[in-house]
Amino acid sequence: MKIVAKFGGSSVKGAEAIKRCCKIIKNNCDIDVVILSATYNSTNELEIIAGLAIKNIDGAHVALNNFFTKHEDIIRKLEISDQCYEFINNLREELKCTILQMNEAQSISAKLMDHMYSYGERLSTAIVYKYLCKSSEDRNPLLLDIRTFLITNDNYGLAEPIIEKIKSNLDSIKQFKSKDLIITQGFIGATEDGCTTTLGREGSDYSATLIAEAISADQVQIWTDVAGVATIDPKLVSDARFINKLSYEEATSLAENGAKILFPKTLAPAKRKNIPVFVKSSFLPNSEGTKICQIAKEELEPRVSGLALDNGLLTIVGIDLIHFEDKIKNFLTEFNAILIMKENNFIKYKFPNNSKLHLALYSLHGYLFSE
Ligand code: ADP
Ligand code: ASP
Ligand code: MG
Repeated sequence: MKIVAKFGGSSVKGAEAIKRCCKIIKNNCDIDVVILSATYNSTNELEIIAGLAIKNIDGAHVALNNFFTKHEDIIRKLEISDQCYEFINNLREELKCTILQMNEAQSISAKLMDHMYSYGERLSTAIVYKYLCKSSEDRNPLLLDIRTFLITNDNYGLAEPIIEKIKSNLDSIKQFKSKDLIITQGFIGATEDGCTTTLGREGSDYSATLIAEAISADQVQIWTDVAGVATIDPKLVSDARFINKLSYEEATSLAENGAKILFPKTLAPAKRKNIPVFVKSSFLPNSEGTKICQIAKEELEPRVSGLALDNGLLTIVGIDLIHFEDKIKNFLTEFNAILIMKENNFIKYKFPNNSKLHLALYSLHGYLFSE
């Protein structure tokens, strides 16, 4: 069994979170590749540092110091300060050069911003790698820079992966065929001539499925801060239910319409190779999570799978929604909802009175999903 496991920013937020992830990795010797996001909020902090670099260089240096202090604090708590000393200093010096470049140009090109973004994932992967080297006796951890094999076009900020190149690169890296435990970065990639690119904000999920596709993995695991894909964002409606099984299409539709649990492009590579994707909580590793996979036609019964919200637009996602259309329409009339688009597998509504939106969402969720 070959598993690609991705851990998001909140799963590597601090020393305790990193220890939890490493325990998950150590407990499952089928995990061959680990894809990591930057530590929680680090990508946003890098955007702030970049903004300051052109307006207030002293402020940028203060923010840069805070950024490194946060990571040094994690390193100290993991008791790997000595092992991390050199790379931390190298990255700090490199990051200082990047902000100077921005300051001199008095602008931030998408290309330079992508380079700037890379520090987040380069730091988190180096930290987790050093901790795994210290604490995992029976695996051979290996840190690989994803920019040496995840090749994209030069659409900086939202680069498109070049699937054939990724595949041929990975075919020639022997460690991907061994039982080494590979640690690498999500979100970033590189053009053929070596310039750093990014796949889009929140794009690490996509990195995981792209790698899984290229190495023909048996499974992808997306480890996050909630116990799977739910009927609605659990932060919006507390009685959201976690869904056991979703088709690639249902999960994609939820993601495309605002469910930020998954980057919208994530499921395309998995679907091409029919690789199941499990979404699970790194805080509750024993909870079942959600399995996203190909579902046989006979099994696809009409259902409402979940609700997603994006910019005031509510999307109801499901299978053969024609069976539920009238019920939903009648229910939403009292909230003055306006139908925007209707397809077999999703229905979209707009709310002229935004203040009614949350109540509508909450009530509709209760109406559709309470037993
Ligand atoms: P990570 O840092 O692991 O990538 P994200 O913040 O990108 O995590 O995604 C997890 C968050 O997605 C959850 O904390 C939750 O608030 C939000 N979310 C939005 N819609 C859903 C949904 N339908 N099911 C589960 N979580 C959702
Ligand atoms: N660190 C990146 C971001 O916050 C990518 C990711 O976490 O998926 O956008
Ligand atoms: Mg995410």
